[in-house]
Amino acid sequence: MTESETFWLGDKILENLKRKLVLEEDDFVARKVALKWRDPFKIIVAIILSQNTIEKNTLKAYMKLEKNVGISPNAISSTSSEKIKNLIRIAGLQESKARAIKELARIIVEKFNGKPEKLLKMGEEEIRELLNSIPGIGRKTIDVFLANFGYPVLPIDVHIRRVSLRLGLAKSKSYEKMQRELHKVFRPEKRLNAHMYLIKLGRTYCKALKPNCKHCPLNSICPKIIE
Ligand code: SF4
Repeated sequence: MTESETFWLGDKILENLKRKLVLEEDDFVARKVALKWRDPFKIIVAIILSQNTIEKNTLKAYMKLEKNVGISPNAISSTSSEKIKNLIRIAGLQESKARAIKELARIIVEKFNGKPEKLLKMGEEEIRELLNSIPGIGRKTIDVFLANFGYPVLPIDVHIRRVSLRLGLAKSKSYEKMQRELHKVFRPEKRLNAHMYLIKLGRTYCKALKPNCKHCPLNSICPKIIE
Protein backbone atom coordinates (compact mmCIF):
# COMPACT_ATOMS: atom_id res chain seq x y z
CA MET A 1 0.00 0.00 0.00
CA THR A 2 1.20 3.54 -0.69
CA GLU A 3 1.47 6.04 2.17
CA SER A 4 -1.69 7.87 1.10
CA GLU A 5 -3.62 4.57 0.98
CA THR A 6 -2.56 3.59 4.50
CA PHE A 7 -3.31 7.08 5.83
CA TRP A 8 -6.69 6.77 4.14
CA LEU A 9 -7.32 3.66 6.22
CA GLY A 10 -6.27 5.43 9.43
CA ASP A 11 -8.55 8.36 8.60
CA LYS A 12 -11.44 6.00 7.94
CA ILE A 13 -10.90 4.16 11.22
CA LEU A 14 -10.86 7.40 13.21
CA GLU A 15 -13.89 8.71 11.37
CA ASN A 16 -15.88 5.58 12.26
CA LEU A 17 -14.71 5.58 15.86
CA LYS A 18 -15.55 9.25 16.36
CA ARG A 19 -19.07 8.65 15.15
CA LYS A 20 -19.78 6.13 17.86
CA LEU A 21 -17.36 6.69 20.72
CA VAL A 22 -17.17 9.71 22.97
CA LEU A 23 -13.96 10.47 24.82
CA GLU A 24 -14.89 11.55 28.33
CA GLU A 25 -12.70 13.86 30.38
CA ASP A 26 -11.92 11.12 32.89
CA ASP A 27 -11.07 8.48 30.25
CA PHE A 28 -7.44 9.61 30.20
CA VAL A 29 -6.17 11.21 33.38
CA ALA A 30 -2.85 12.20 31.81
CA ARG A 31 -4.68 14.03 29.01
CA LYS A 32 -6.94 15.73 31.51
CA VAL A 33 -3.90 16.90 33.48
CA ALA A 34 -2.14 17.95 30.28
CA LEU A 35 -5.07 20.08 29.13
CA LYS A 36 -5.60 21.62 32.54
CA TRP A 37 -2.05 22.41 33.66
CA ARG A 38 0.44 21.86 30.82
CA ASP A 39 2.89 21.01 33.61
CA PRO A 40 5.37 18.32 32.48
CA PHE A 41 5.97 17.08 36.02
CA LYS A 42 2.27 16.64 36.83
CA ILE A 43 1.72 14.89 33.50
CA ILE A 44 4.54 12.38 34.00
CA VAL A 45 3.31 11.67 37.53
CA ALA A 46 -0.20 11.02 36.15
CA ILE A 47 1.22 8.66 33.52
CA ILE A 48 3.31 6.80 36.10
CA LEU A 49 0.25 6.42 38.32
CA SER A 50 -1.78 5.09 35.39
CA GLN A 51 0.56 2.16 34.74
CA ASN A 52 -1.25 -1.18 35.09
CA THR A 53 -4.41 0.23 36.60
CA ILE A 54 -7.75 1.67 35.56
CA GLU A 55 -8.23 5.41 35.07
CA LYS A 56 -10.61 5.68 38.02
CA ASN A 57 -7.86 4.55 40.40
CA THR A 58 -5.28 6.73 38.67
CA LEU A 59 -7.46 9.76 39.23
CA LYS A 60 -8.07 8.92 42.89
CA ALA A 61 -4.35 8.43 43.56
CA TYR A 62 -3.48 11.60 41.66
CA MET A 63 -6.02 13.72 43.55
CA LYS A 64 -4.94 12.30 46.89
CA LEU A 65 -1.30 13.09 46.18
CA GLU A 66 -2.18 16.56 44.94
CA LYS A 67 -4.35 17.33 47.95
CA ASN A 68 -2.01 16.00 50.63
CA VAL A 69 1.41 16.83 49.22
CA GLY A 70 1.06 18.89 46.04
CA ILE A 71 2.39 17.50 42.78
CA SER A 72 5.49 19.59 42.24
CA PRO A 73 9.15 18.54 42.22
CA ASN A 74 9.94 20.46 45.42
CA ALA A 75 6.91 19.19 47.34
CA ILE A 76 7.54 15.58 46.31
CA SER A 77 11.26 15.86 47.10
CA SER A 78 10.57 16.94 50.65
CA THR A 79 8.02 14.17 51.28
CA SER A 80 8.97 10.70 52.48
CA SER A 81 8.63 7.72 50.15
CA GLU A 82 6.48 6.07 52.78
CA LYS A 83 3.93 8.88 52.71
CA ILE A 84 3.82 8.93 48.91
CA LYS A 85 3.37 5.16 48.80
CA ASN A 86 0.42 5.36 51.18
CA LEU A 87 -1.23 8.15 49.23
CA ILE A 88 -0.99 6.40 45.86
CA ARG A 89 -1.69 2.87 47.10
CA ILE A 90 -5.05 2.68 45.31
CA ALA A 91 -3.27 2.80 41.92
CA GLY A 92 -1.21 -0.29 42.82
CA LEU A 93 2.54 -0.92 42.37
CA GLN A 94 2.99 1.86 44.93
CA GLU A 95 6.54 0.82 45.75
CA SER A 96 7.93 1.23 42.23
CA LYS A 97 5.65 4.14 41.33
CA ALA A 98 6.68 6.12 44.43
CA ARG A 99 10.33 5.41 43.63
CA ALA A 100 9.93 6.66 40.06
CA ILE A 101 8.05 9.80 41.17
CA LYS A 102 10.68 10.60 43.82
CA GLU A 103 13.54 10.09 41.37
CA LEU A 104 11.85 12.25 38.74
CA ALA A 105 11.38 14.99 41.34
CA ARG A 106 15.01 14.73 42.43
CA ILE A 107 16.28 15.08 38.87
CA ILE A 108 14.06 18.07 38.14
CA VAL A 109 15.09 19.80 41.35
CA GLU A 110 18.79 19.15 40.77
CA LYS A 111 19.00 19.59 37.03
CA PHE A 112 16.33 22.23 36.40
CA ASN A 113 16.18 24.01 39.72
CA GLY A 114 12.71 22.58 40.33
CA LYS A 115 11.29 24.01 37.10
CA PRO A 116 9.76 21.13 35.08
CA GLU A 117 9.02 23.33 32.05
CA LYS A 118 12.76 23.34 31.36
CA LEU A 119 12.45 19.67 30.44
CA LEU A 120 10.62 20.75 27.30
CA LYS A 121 13.51 22.92 26.20
CA MET A 122 15.49 19.75 25.55
CA GLY A 123 15.31 17.86 22.28
CA GLU A 124 13.27 14.68 21.91
CA GLU A 125 16.24 12.34 22.20
CA GLU A 126 17.54 14.11 25.30
CA ILE A 127 14.10 13.93 26.93
CA ARG A 128 13.90 10.24 26.11
CA GLU A 129 17.36 9.58 27.49
CA LEU A 130 16.73 11.46 30.71
CA LEU A 131 13.35 9.87 31.43
CA ASN A 132 14.55 6.44 30.40
CA SER A 133 17.28 6.64 33.04
CA ILE A 134 14.60 6.55 35.75
CA PRO A 135 13.60 3.03 36.84
CA GLY A 136 9.84 2.66 36.40
CA ILE A 137 9.67 5.00 33.41
CA GLY A 138 9.73 3.09 30.16
CA ARG A 139 9.11 3.57 26.48
CA LYS A 140 5.32 3.75 26.71
CA THR A 141 5.32 6.30 29.54
CA ILE A 142 7.76 8.47 27.61
CA ASP A 143 5.70 8.18 24.43
CA VAL A 144 2.48 9.18 26.23
CA PHE A 145 4.30 12.18 27.68
CA LEU A 146 5.69 13.25 24.30
CA ALA A 147 2.38 12.68 22.52
CA ASN A 148 0.67 14.99 25.00
CA PHE A 149 3.14 17.70 24.05
CA GLY A 150 2.52 17.39 20.33
CA TYR A 151 5.24 14.93 19.34
CA PRO A 152 3.94 12.66 16.55
CA VAL A 153 4.19 9.34 18.38
CA LEU A 154 1.50 6.74 18.94
CA PRO A 155 2.02 5.15 22.37
CA ILE A 156 0.98 1.51 22.51
CA ASP A 157 -0.74 -0.04 25.48
CA VAL A 158 -2.27 -3.47 25.93
CA HIS A 159 -5.58 -2.42 24.30
CA ILE A 160 -3.90 -0.90 21.26
CA ARG A 161 -1.73 -3.97 20.84
CA ARG A 162 -4.76 -6.28 20.80
CA VAL A 163 -6.97 -4.06 18.65
CA SER A 164 -4.21 -3.39 16.10
CA LEU A 165 -3.51 -7.09 15.64
CA ARG A 166 -7.21 -7.89 15.23
CA LEU A 167 -7.66 -5.06 12.75
CA GLY A 168 -4.63 -6.23 10.80
CA LEU A 169 -2.96 -2.82 11.23
CA ALA A 170 0.14 -4.50 12.60
CA LYS A 171 1.72 -7.92 12.51
CA SER A 172 4.66 -7.36 14.83
CA LYS A 173 4.30 -7.86 18.52
CA SER A 174 7.38 -5.92 19.60
CA TYR A 175 6.65 -2.37 20.76
CA GLU A 176 8.99 -0.60 18.35
CA LYS A 177 8.01 -2.59 15.27
CA MET A 178 4.30 -2.31 15.98
CA GLN A 179 4.68 1.42 16.48
CA ARG A 180 6.43 1.76 13.13
CA GLU A 181 3.54 -0.09 11.48
CA LEU A 182 0.94 2.09 13.17
CA HIS A 183 2.81 5.24 12.23
CA LYS A 184 2.30 4.21 8.62
CA VAL A 185 -1.47 4.04 9.20
CA PHE A 186 -2.10 7.20 11.22
CA ARG A 187 -0.99 10.64 10.13
CA PRO A 188 1.46 12.36 12.52
CA GLU A 189 -1.10 14.94 13.64
CA LYS A 190 -3.70 12.25 14.38
CA ARG A 191 -1.59 9.84 16.43
CA LEU A 192 -2.59 11.11 19.86
CA ASN A 193 -6.25 10.87 18.86
CA ALA A 194 -5.65 7.41 17.42
CA HIS A 195 -4.03 6.40 20.72
CA MET A 196 -7.08 7.49 22.72
CA TYR A 197 -9.75 6.18 20.36
CA LEU A 198 -8.11 2.77 19.95
CA ILE A 199 -7.84 2.42 23.72
CA LYS A 200 -11.49 3.39 24.08
CA LEU A 201 -12.37 0.82 21.42
CA GLY A 202 -10.44 -1.83 23.35
CA ARG A 203 -12.20 -0.90 26.59
CA THR A 204 -15.66 -0.97 25.07
CA TYR A 205 -16.16 -3.19 22.00
CA CYS A 206 -12.88 -4.95 21.30
CA LYS A 207 -12.33 -6.42 24.74
CA ALA A 208 -9.83 -9.22 25.27
CA LEU A 209 -12.58 -11.75 25.94
CA LYS A 210 -15.69 -11.78 23.79
CA PRO A 211 -15.19 -8.83 21.43
CA ASN A 212 -18.52 -7.29 20.48
CA CYS A 213 -17.92 -7.34 16.71
CA LYS A 214 -21.62 -7.18 15.91
CA HIS A 215 -22.00 -3.66 17.29
CA CYS A 216 -18.42 -2.48 16.80
CA PRO A 217 -18.02 0.76 14.79
CA LEU A 218 -15.27 -0.94 12.77
CA ASN A 219 -17.24 -4.09 11.97
CA SER A 220 -17.47 -3.37 8.24
CA ILE A 221 -13.74 -2.79 7.76
CA CYS A 222 -12.20 -5.19 10.28
CA PRO A 223 -10.74 -8.54 9.16
CA LYS A 224 -11.22 -9.78 12.76
CA ILE A 225 -7.90 -11.53 13.16
CA ILE A 226 -8.72 -12.99 16.55
CA GLU A 227 -6.27 -15.50 18.03
S1 SF4 B 1 -14.85 -5.82 14.59
FE1 SF4 B 1 -14.42 -7.13 16.36
S2 SF4 B 1 -12.24 -7.66 16.22
FE2 SF4 B 1 -12.62 -5.91 14.86
S3 SF4 B 1 -12.14 -4.12 16.12
FE3 SF4 B 1 -14.33 -4.47 16.29
S4 SF4 B 1 -14.59 -5.75 18.11
FE4 SF4 B 1 -12.42 -5.83 17.51
